[in-house]
Amino acid sequence: MSNRDDSQYFRHYGEIENPTVDMNGQEFNGDSGSTLFDTGVNRRTFMTVLSASMAMAAASCRRPEHKLVASTNPTEYLIPGLPNYYTSVYQHKNAAIGLVVKTREGRPIKIDGNPKHTASLGRSSAFVQGTLLSLYDPDRIRRPRVNGGDSSINNAANTIAQAIQKSIAAGKKVVFLIDEHCSPAYVGLCNQLSTVISGISVVTMPSLISNAPLANNAVFGINAEIVPDLSKADIIVSVDNDFLGTDKHTVYHTASFTSNRKPTAESPTMNTLISIESSFSLTGANADHRFAISPSEYESVLAGILSQVYSAKGLSLPSGLPSPASNDAVAKTSKALLSAKNGIVMVGTHLSAKANAYGQLINQALGSVGEGKPINLNHRLYNSGDVSASLSSFRASLKDKEIGTIVYVETNPEYCADTELKRLLSENVDFSAALSVADHETAQTLCSVSVPTTHYLESWGDALNFDGGYSVQQPIIAPLNQSAISAQDFIILVANFINASSFADTPTFYDFIRKMQSDYASKSAWEQLLRDGVTVKANAYEAGSASGFDQLQSYSVSGGLTLAITPSYTVLDGTQANNSWLQELPDPITKVTWGNVAMMNKQTAESLGAVQGEVLRFSTSSGSIELPVFIQPGMSNNVVAVSLGYGRTAGGNVLTGVGANAYSILSPNAGYYVSVKAEKVGRSEKIATTQGHHAIERYDKPSPFDNEWKERTKDILGVEEGYITLASLAAAKGGSHEEHGHDAHHISDTLSIVDGFQYSGHRWAMAIDLSACTGCSACVVACQAENNIPTVGKKYVANSREMHWIRIDRYYREDASGNVTTVFQPMLCQHCENAPCENVCPVAATTHSPEGLNEMTYNRCVGTRYCLNNCPYKVRRFNFLNWHKDKKTPLDMAFNPDVSVRMRGVMEKCTFCVQRLNEAKMHAKDQGHSRVQDGDVVTACQQACPAGAIFFGNVNDPKSAVAKAANMNRGNHSQEYKEKNGAYKVLSELNVRPSITYLVKVRNTDQLPKV
Ligand code: SF4
Repeated sequence: MSNRDDSQYFRHYGEIENPTVDMNGQEFNGDSGSTLFDTGVNRRTFMTVLSASMAMAAASCRRPEHKLVASTNPTEYLIPGLPNYYTSVYQHKNAAIGLVVKTREGRPIKIDGNPKHTASLGRSSAFVQGTLLSLYDPDRIRRPRVNGGDSSINNAANTIAQAIQKSIAAGKKVVFLIDEHCSPAYVGLCNQLSTVISGISVVTMPSLISNAPLANNAVFGINAEIVPDLSKADIIVSVDNDFLGTDKHTVYHTASFTSNRKPTAESPTMNTLISIESSFSLTGANADHRFAISPSEYESVLAGILSQVYSAKGLSLPSGLPSPASNDAVAKTSKALLSAKNGIVMVGTHLSAKANAYGQLINQALGSVGEGKPINLNHRLYNSGDVSASLSSFRASLKDKEIGTIVYVETNPEYCADTELKRLLSENVDFSAALSVADHETAQTLCSVSVPTTHYLESWGDALNFDGGYSVQQPIIAPLNQSAISAQDFIILVANFINASSFADTPTFYDFIRKMQSDYASKSAWEQLLRDGVTVKANAYEAGSASGFDQLQSYSVSGGLTLAITPSYTVLDGTQANNSWLQELPDPITKVTWGNVAMMNKQTAESLGAVQGEVLRFSTSSGSIELPVFIQPGMSNNVVAVSLGYGRTAGGNVLTGVGANAYSILSPNAGYYVSVKAEKVGRSEKIATTQGHHAIERYDKPSPFDNEWKERTKDILGVEEGYITLASLAAAKGGSHEEHGHDAHHISDTLSIVDGFQYSGHRWAMAIDLSACTGCSACVVACQAENNIPTVGKKYVANSREMHWIRIDRYYREDASGNVTTVFQPMLCQHCENAPCENVCPVAATTHSPEGLNEMTYNRCVGTRYCLNNCPYKVRRFNFLNWHKDKKTPLDMAFNPDVSVRMRGVMEKCTFCVQRLNEAKMHAKDQGHSRVQDGDVVTACQQACPAGAIFFGNVNDPKSAVAKAANMNRGNHSQEYKEKNGAYKVLSELNVRPSITYLVKVRNTDQLPKV
């Protein structure tokens, strides 16, 4: 029985209801209580995790044939020991993400956003960071296969060409089934292919539903997805739109959303986020107001808001509107939108076309559409037009057995298609071939020819951004697998086998790109394009006339138990499922790693008679999946949320046996909310969740300060409430700005019997703004990539052995009606001035540097782990096993050579990217500076953070961004342990004097009007 106070923060229910058990209902045995004997190496598991069994002997750091251009003005040639940087672009479906790729001795070792690219703004996401590891995936397909035997690229191309000719001669259709993309040259290539060889058509098969283009066509006459600019909106209403989590443009949305989430007492302004949803999403967790509704209510709630807005604006309602809901969500949201200067509604693109259209009608009526408004109709995803008609006709052709040959180009329908389509593809096609990076389900099951394709960092391409920015995808390294070929080059090869004049003047895709881009024909223009990574061209779009509103479809969602299918926060649709960085990244909401779970609230679980970890079988008319129950606060009643991207059966060692495939229970044209039947299967599963791991304080133990939970919340989150409201911040304007009388050379010295150390040079410090942090976890993977942090696998994560140097602590507070307030807090080594870890190390392996760093000397560490036990923040990680031992080529090519690879028995933790600090100091010295200039050094987490929530630098420089951030006035003057007006240190009462300052979270809870 719960003894929980409604306003108490917690990390998971077990912590407050039965604090002596963990998330899996097992007794806590402590983070380090297990002996090494019970963690004996299971070589098979270990090899699976690291995917290192097959070395690519032929892999090397060859440079691509065509000249690359470095992104920076200095050295473009290779100097051993120094990095080179190149621009490129990642096509996240049809969203272009501009990149800068860091290479060492020809190897790409780090990916970050290109600051000149308007979609990435120099920032990135966990998913984008993870694409680096996929480059070095040892499970990538090695060589072409024809009829079960190894072959050559030419033989594979010739075999496919002959099959195509045979199909055409027999009067059958030939289809190239491709994935979504935003490459103008690829569009041109596909057009030319179907023009020069009649009988061939190219069909795009998205792995995720988007009904937005149909809706935009009906409302604006634009058959495309439109990308709003959230920095221009003061009230944002998300209707099941997870724009901070799984959206294609999550980096851009997070950056623009959080640009107006960093208020100060002097400037107390910020936007308001209202979330209306059924599951608990990252966007919902960041909302100022959240309404949990049933999936069957989306259209009626939108119709309700539409009715209220239209009535206030004196507009007549469109015909066919469902009966509008009239509830709290509708009344309060409508009133807030009508009072906003620039209010905007964002509807999940997976919801019905009708729901999406209602959202855009509301935006139009609010006057939020146009130049300089949140919705600029020229900001549309390239090549994002509706494909449902072509997919329907493709399915009809399959049913009629009209298709002779299918070439799957980076598509995997055997995994992600519905049951009927899979059957049709298997039974009604004469010949199939796959072009793919991995030997995935489709290649293995359906195809007699499979061809290894290149990773995007190995091949030329191009991409158009939503605002018209044009980027070239530079291959940063020649294909690691010499048999691999880019999909586009292979298509040209096949076409030339059929008709030698098909692409006679452009024998490669590189030639095709150069021919298409006549604006960059000159050497200097081309090189400048490559150097910058993006050039803005005027958008050549024109709006057509709005049409088809009456034909827009709704999804019918019946009542009862409903399954909500969502993309995964880490592996999305499963295309990166063989990536151990992403598999081991805790889901930002559930903190589950290595697999999907059935998320539901306590009431739903109780109604099913199920408990945490109990496996249930969920059945629809299309199939069934079995998943363990995961009790999740914030979910609507009778809703079970399941992520896509898991349950892969082919394509690598890492993905095998991880989770269940939610695609397999979907039906065509039924959307992502489906009625299900749930039944017990009589077993339970241990879920590898990090939710209760490395907790700063355990609720089953008395607090070291013998204080209450409110005090603990204040110790951790800065204020008793866990956040302050914008109104209280505004009220603090002009209030007393208490100064502690220190100069910038001092960390506060609350209590000390010795004089503080006087830092005369650099004094490295960090500030983290909890108001901006969305919990996205990009920083976690960026840190992993930069610092050679290993993955450990499901078994060891379940035993608290994960090695991440940053964890994102996520605190919930749930009121009696189930409303959840969430605060995310990135937690990493605090580089304490009075570091408790340093005092207890018997061999002085962890010591303090003259620049304020808490350093680890790995080869002194003897593994006593006293430091870990004495760390109040629980941020140290011990190598219980030699996680890197069997990592072989090419996975080891992802290592950053500037960072030691740690061995078994060694403690490790965040270093503030000391390798970057040393490099910056050397550059400063070269330029004649005695200090690193502010902004010349960024940590990996700071660089990746799409929210700009992390500030780092020399706090001895009062003009530095970190010093200013630490002085930011957040107005929580009543806070007992405050350092400076709302900036606070976690557990400051311990007097360990951390170097990381946190800025207390601000929520705009005052903007929702009373109705
Ligand atoms: S600090 Fe980390 S979790 Fe928070 S927004 Fe930035 S990258 Fe995401």
